[in-house]
Amino acid sequence: MVERAESESRKLLGRLRDTMASEAAGQERLDQITHLTADSMGTEVCSIYLFRDDETLELCATQGLNAEAVHQTRMKLGEGLVGRVARTGRIVNTADAPSAHGFRYMPETGEEIYSSFLGVPIQRLGEKLGVLVMQSKEARQFSADEVYALEVVAMVLAEMTELGAFVGEGAALRARHTESVLLRGSTAQEGTAEGYVWLHEPRVIVTNLVGDDPQTERKRLLDAIENLRISVDQLLAGAVEDAEQVQVLEAYRMFANSKGWLRRMEENIDRGLSAEAAVEKEQSDVRARMSQANDAYLRERLQDLDDLSNRLLRILTGQGVQTGAELPENPILVARNIGPGELLEYGRKLRGIILEEGSVGSHAAIIARALAIPLVINTKRIQNEALNGDHVMVDGDQGIVHLRPDDTVVAAFRDKMAMQAKAQERYASIRDKPATTLCGKTIRMDMNAGLMADLPSLESSGAEGVGLFRTELQFLVRNQMPRRTELAELYARVLDAAKGKRVVFRTLDIGSDKVLPYMKPQDEPNPALGWRAIRVGLDKPGVMRMQLQALLRAANGRPMTLMFPFIAQYDEYRLARAEVDKAIARELKLGHRIPETLEIGAMLETPSLAFACKKFYEEVDFLSIGGNDLKQFFFAADRENERVRRRYDTLNISFLTFLEDIITRCAATNTPLSFCGEDAGRPVEALCMTALGLNALSMRPASIGPVKHLLRRCNLDDVRAVIHASRDAGDQSARPAVMEYLRSLT
Ligand code: PEP
Ligand code: MG
Repeated sequence: MVERAESESRKLLGRLRDTMASEAAGQERLDQITHLTADSMGTEVCSIYLFRDDETLELCATQGLNAEAVHQTRMKLGEGLVGRVARTGRIVNTADAPSAHGFRYMPETGEEIYSSFLGVPIQRLGEKLGVLVMQSKEARQFSADEVYALEVVAMVLAEMTELGAFVGEGAALRARHTESVLLRGSTAQEGTAEGYVWLHEPRVIVTNLVGDDPQTERKRLLDAIENLRISVDQLLAGAVEDAEQVQVLEAYRMFANSKGWLRRMEENIDRGLSAEAAVEKEQSDVRARMSQANDAYLRERLQDLDDLSNRLLRILTGQGVQTGAELPENPILVARNIGPGELLEYGRKLRGIILEEGSVGSHAAIIARALAIPLVINTKRIQNEALNGDHVMVDGDQGIVHLRPDDTVVAAFRDKMAMQAKAQERYASIRDKPATTLCGKTIRMDMNAGLMADLPSLESSGAEGVGLFRTELQFLVRNQMPRRTELAELYARVLDAAKGKRVVFRTLDIGSDKVLPYMKPQDEPNPALGWRAIRVGLDKPGVMRMQLQALLRAANGRPMTLMFPFIAQYDEYRLARAEVDKAIARELKLGHRIPETLEIGAMLETPSLAFACKKFYEEVDFLSIGGNDLKQFFFAADRENERVRRRYDTLNISFLTFLEDIITRCAATNTPLSFCGEDAGRPVEALCMTALGLNALSMRPASIGPVKHLLRRCNLDDVRAVIHASRDAGDQSARPAVMEYLRSLT
């Protein structure tokens, strides 16, 4: 029985292959497929429904239903049984279609006489393309073999769709990957870029779906799996020190040796598929399970299996191996996700990055920000839509991607980029001028950094120094804890590159969104309020001590400035400072040089520190407001949660009043104060903060020009008066009033 089903399936596939190879036009091919499927399977009806647009399915070919209904009958996603299959991606198999839940009768098709219904989704690696349907008069459930056979036909259809087999004269379908599409994601790094798609992991296209000889195909599969096992073992041998990577590879190895996985693929081969088609069919099944899995662990394992199938497909087809040398001009990287190390390898060669997943706090986002490369995340479908070399425009300001844009979009986008370039020229002309306002106040402009690669910006941006050096990036981009000597060398190079300009090194700020790949992840209900930054440093001082030593040695007698992140109470600062004292004593004992001067500051990132005792304010050498964190705690709005992160305006009167209080306190104790959160780089926000008395800002290098340009055109006394008047008037935010003032300047 099984053998008969296998030979039937092989016969059907053989006939399908002939159709694929024929010169027939798109519509003719579809007609042939419905005809021969119905014929081979001995049913009255076989129909193909394909997506017209994201929401609408259209009957594109049929054997058995009224021919006039072709290209006329349409249904919405979720409508009727066909729409249900399309929406859920699940098979519907019923002996009594009219009584089935959701049935909708389409009179023009003449389908009322058919009782049984079998619908399978046509999808390619999780992307929905349509629905394939069989119907018969006899009221019966279709057998497992019939379901399987129809699934295989659906798969062939999906591959042919990908290859453009149904496009052309009298076409049922528009060509895929040729139309212009606008995709919406979210912004993770602002900026605009135009270039050409570079798929980090290019998709594999299986052109050879049908296997002539199951023995040969089985052997090809087994050889490829052997190859895969060897490569996983080699990776494992090289990953001994990276616990997380080892864990993933162990899972790979387990799957690569899994009998069930192999058996399912061999069964696919026995039914007539080629080795690569057998892998892809199994992969599609895994993807379908993945989309339905609610359990995070299970989803992750299925994800591993999906990755493994990709590797296997690459081995079998020889496709998809990219090397950096082939990068197109102005490459825009497209990936599902990317690790920080891989991203750094591409480095500044990239013009833009588009991720299908990702989050604002991910390591990739941190690196993209550090490299100032526009990044759009959560861009659904980009991996399925984009082909290598496609023209693409990335709008990191709006979180929008224009793939294969048409001429009007290109023109509008280029205008926007030209305006930005013009503004850049204007900023370049004031690079060496001070940020002196019309009322004669000069604001210190520092830049934020985190990589050695940032340092050249000190010169090009006109920054006076580095107001925040995020040391965690060096820890995040590695697979293991960096060694003290490595860090000391790096910090020394940073100081060399700064040529005497002040660099504020912030000690390791990990936890919350910044999880080290080699540290045991903490299972915390609320990581932003959890074990992070200085809390980790004080509880497990080993790493902090190592880092402090590295910093002191890097200074090698030069001035040094340190800053502790996330200080929430005086004691934390005192204890951290005591660690520095101990480190200095140790260096002296070892006969090493200690810094000529040493400033030790704290980041004000929790509202509690704003209310710390006067003694704290007197003792600390300086304070720097970490506005990203301070704002999230002030408004109780997670800075990474898209739904709330933009909900409260920085110019909200409550927040500005709070900042003004901090500024006043610092002024009373002569405590130097700066602001180094993202808002420092937003011109209007920066203007308001300086109007309220802040006189040092640290921001991304690219923001220095725009902020300085605005400050030089304004009178801070006037702006302060505008803010206070807005507050007295009971406004929620000072923004409208300030914008009004700015408009009056021009
Ligand atoms: C901040 O919180 O504002 C800050 C500068 O630190 P980070 O963004 O690295 O948390
Ligand atoms: Mg912070």
